[in-house]
Amino acid sequence: MGSNFGTYEDVIKLLNEEGVKIEDMATLVYDLQKPYVPNVTIEESCESIKSVLSKREVINTVMVGLELDRSARARRMENKKLEKILVDDQGLFGVDEVLAYTICNIYGSIALTNFGYLDKIKPGIIGIINNNHERCNVFLDDIIGAIVASAASRVAHRHDE
Ligand code: MG
Repeated sequence: MGSNFGTYEDVIKLLNEEGVKIEDMATLVYDLQKPYVPNVTIEESCESIKSVLSKREVINTVMVGLELDRSARARRMENKKLEKILVDDQGLFGVDEVLAYTICNIYGSIALTNFGYLDKIKPGIIGIINNNHERCNVFLDDIIGAIVASAASRVAHRHDE
């Protein structure tokens, strides 16, 4: 793999710039899995988030989604119609969810179910992102939801072995 590809460190930096920390996501993984896996820990939840963020497909998806949010925010998009859709966060756009599915798809049907649940409830950092109307976050909330959903699914599968 060429060294010009994005790395785990790049993704951590990008997420930090968006105000999202591994611990914020790990807390949600813990809360999701606690009812099913009583001995799950915050440490294990952090590990699971880090493992998801190390995957090539996930790194690529985070980079694409955040670049679109950031370009729209800075009004730097070539396509001004698309820019307006993103800035206004028009509900029926849908590409944000579909891009996030590419993360869940690696981790199977539990990840997809968790993603739908998180999208409905919007707990913790997901709700904070979603309620921040100051800046364009069309892709960020779905990407965080998918990372958390996938890390939770990973915990579930490991305890099932
Ligand atoms: Mg969205």
